[in-house]
Amino acid sequence: MTIAENKVVTLEFTVKNAETGDLIESSQGSEPLVYLHGFNNLVPGLETELVGKTVGESYDVTVSPEEGYGVRDESLVQQVPREAFQGIENIDVGMAFTADGPQGPVVVEVTAIEGDTITIDANHPLASIPLAFSGEIKDIRDASAEELEHGHVHGPGGHHH
Ligand code: ZN
Repeated sequence: MTIAENKVVTLEFTVKNAETGDLIESSQGSEPLVYLHGFNNLVPGLETELVGKTVGESYDVTVSPEEGYGVRDESLVQQVPREAFQGIENIDVGMAFTADGPQGPVVVEVTAIEGDTITIDANHPLASIPLAFSGEIKDIRDASAEELEHGHVHGPGGHHH
């Protein structure tokens, strides 16, 4: 069996900043990633590269920001008054909040505080960063009808509901 649409894939992964070599995340020492292929569960550049691979094969791919988490959009950086954070004490740089965006909930991070003016950034933390993914394919199976309906994996490594 090879990786294609509607397959549930288990893989080991390590992702690094392709420019600096800094480690961003790895499945080493934790659970491998389980995802449903063809439903935008991975960044496009990685999903495309995995097509046709079989169990035991490894992969090593550099993904551009355009094919990854997108390019930074400075219009997503906003300054808001401290009153907007009613009920939240001890606002600090680096804190992340979920806010209502035009296309559903977005995660915004506090990037600066000057007096009562808080700067927030709704860009993905990995926007504009070229990413180097590598790892090995561990398992491939057909998705169930229910998984295809939901667009995600159920059971071990997936959703439980
Ligand atoms: Zn589900």
